[in-house]
Amino acid sequence: AKEKGKNNFQLYNPTIHNLLFRKMNIENGLRGAIEKNQFSLHYQPKVDMRTGKMVGTEALLRWEHPELGIVSPAEFIPVAEETGQIVSIGEWVLKTACEQIKKWQTAGLPLIYLSVNVSVRQFQQNDFIQMVRNILQETHLDAHFLELEITESIIQNLKQSTEILYDLRVLGVRTSIDDFGTGYSSLYALKTLPVDVIKLDKSFIDDLNDPANQAIVKAITEIGTSLNLQVIAEGIEEEQQVKMLLKHNCRYGQGYLFGRPVPAKEFEKHLLNNRNF
Ligand code: C2E
Ligand code: CA
Ligand code: CA
Ligand code: CA
Repeated sequence: AKEKGKNNFQLYNPTIHNLLFRKMNIENGLRGAIEKNQFSLHYQPKVDMRTGKMVGTEALLRWEHPELGIVSPAEFIPVAEETGQIVSIGEWVLKTACEQIKKWQTAGLPLIYLSVNVSVRQFQQNDFIQMVRNILQETHLDAHFLELEITESIIQNLKQSTEILYDLRVLGVRTSIDDFGTGYSSLYALKTLPVDVIKLDKSFIDDLNDPANQAIVKAITEIGTSLNLQVIAEGIEEEQQVKMLLKHNCRYGQGYLFGRPVPAKEFEKHLLNNRNF
């Protein structure tokens, strides 16, 4: 109210209070979320845009909180990273996704590869490689069907990260730099890190009418290809973007245009139809 005067600091800020309360709620809720079966995975197609065939799928984590409802991973993953809970959550994701893919393979459905997001904190655990190896053994999934998506921020720990990436390569697991181009170290990361795939960030794909974005996409695809890396674009929503990407020799894509992330049961329909995108 006016009579409070302008020198009256507002000590109680309801917005900040609500935000802190929500964060605390998320942090507490994440404990035990695995045991309470609150997590599930959605699967989104990855497409060879030259042939229209689905070649892979990315597993994306979903969390249903009893009071908050569906919480976006963009909101709860950072919290889980902060608290360290991401380590056990990430292990659950990898195991569940590998089991699912193996099930589809066993059922004779078309073979596609699986991408799983790995957070930096998880990647840098001492027993990360052992964890991946164990899950591959337990689920009997051939390592060549697995790809791990990691952001370029792993470069901050260059020596350790390089070793882990080589260990994964020896295991037969492919690796991808996620959100490529958004970090500050992109080209250096490319030159240095032994990865197999570059994932062009959605922010470049959103507005491909912008000549600057086109130039970036073209350049990254050229560099990637000459370094023997596969290049995939994320966030494709329109046919026009596909045309542009193919024109610049970016062959692989992912986005709502081809399919939204959906639960396993629904994703199975794509596989059963062996449909073209
Ligand atoms: P990301 O790895 O960059 O994943 C792509 C995000 O873009 C996903 O959001 C996906 O649903 C969304 N997306 C895909 N195609 C389109 C499109 O055409 N248009 C638009 N507008 N969006 C599209 P989602 O599922 O909400 O995940 C957000 C972020 O949360 C992911 O970004 C990833 O960084 C993180 N995340 C999700 N699942 C996991 C996980 O299992 N582990 C870890 N560490 N992080 C995860
Ligand atoms: Ca990703
Ligand atoms: Ca992204
Ligand atoms: Ca990401």
